[in-house]
Amino acid sequence: MQEIKFSEAQEIKVNSKKVCCNGRNGNDGDSSGHPIIYLDVEEEEPTRCPYCSQVFVYDCTVEQIELTE
Ligand SMILES: [Zn+2]
Repeated sequence: MQEIKFSEAQEIKVNSKKVCCNGRNGNDGDSSGHPIIYLDVEEEEPTRCPYCSQVFVYDCTVEQIELTE
């Protein structure tokens, strides 16, 4: 079980307005994750996944992150 501390939560920067999250971002499948959901990313403010609290930040300077199964 991985504890997520908000102050230390890692933000994922994306250059897409649409991201998918399965709860295993940044992990190698250790955690069970959650059903894949799609989130709208706003330019002005970070988006937080309601399942795993992963934070996505829009940043047009980063390369597109492709999430794989
Ligand atoms: Zn998630």
